[in-house]
Amino acid sequence: MRYEGNVFRPPSEAYSLIVQATIGCAHNDCTFCSMYKDKKFRVRNIEEVLEDFDLARKRYRYIEKVFLADGDALVLSNESLMRILDKIRTTLPECQRVGIYAAPHDIIRKTPQELKELRENGLGIAYMGVESGSAEILKAVKKGVTPEEMVEACHKLNDAGIQSSVTFISGLGGKDHWREHAVESGKLISKMEPDYVGLLTLMVEREAPLYNDIVKGKFELLSPEEVLIETAELIKNINLKKKCVFRSNHASNYISLRGDLPKDKERLLRTIAGALMNTRQIKDERFRML
Ligand code: SF4
Repeated sequence: MRYEGNVFRPPSEAYSLIVQATIGCAHNDCTFCSMYKDKKFRVRNIEEVLEDFDLARKRYRYIEKVFLADGDALVLSNESLMRILDKIRTTLPECQRVGIYAAPHDIIRKTPQELKELRENGLGIAYMGVESGSAEILKAVKKGVTPEEMVEACHKLNDAGIQSSVTFISGLGGKDHWREHAVESGKLISKMEPDYVGLLTLMVEREAPLYNDIVKGKFELLSPEEVLIETAELIKNINLKKKCVFRSNHASNYISLRGDLPKDKERLLRTIAGALMNTRQIKDERFRML
């Protein structure tokens, strides 16, 4: 397959065919993120994108899922996305689901009818980086989106029948704002009612602007135990009526958590309490990765 630069995908798309529909991230400004700092955003030539599915067909006999990269491929017009979905349907008829990274503003920009059209033509899941429920923290990390817009975007996906998978980052408020981050993130998840919540733990690479703040002592990272206390507070503040799969089992996390909310809330809290009692369960810093 033809890839430009580093390619990222959500953990649950590990076995999907990844095709870059766009290159880089249109926003590319979040202070904690270094994923696309080496790329200038552009929409990839659509003919090249379509050709990639022919190349994949020649190479693979069975492709169950497709993931459209890079950072926010939903930025494409519906006309382009429909051409891509049509191509997937005709070239890879066995494909069960197409996934995409979606910036909240791109979701909001689309009409309910456009989102429904994408759903009916194979777009099954959209992954949205929410990062924090706190308006102040979102502003500080230059996310460029408000909590209210996060809710609106998620509800639009839910209404269109596109599964919503949202990601938050433990430790993003640092030592100064950990409680606000936990409480507001839990509350925001309750309002958004996503199908999946993924909780990563903050790791900052040199290329990310936040790295300098850490070096200068302006931003203090949480200790592993503090991350777990924050996670427990976040979970306590999630109150959902419909089922949501909660996962905090990414390589960056200190312990692995997975359960269905609201059913498994108490079990998840007990697992965290157990790890705080027996800190040998906490992953060594050397084994964490992004
Ligand atoms: S976190 Fe997402 S929106 Fe922000 S710069 Fe990184 S890829 Fe772009």
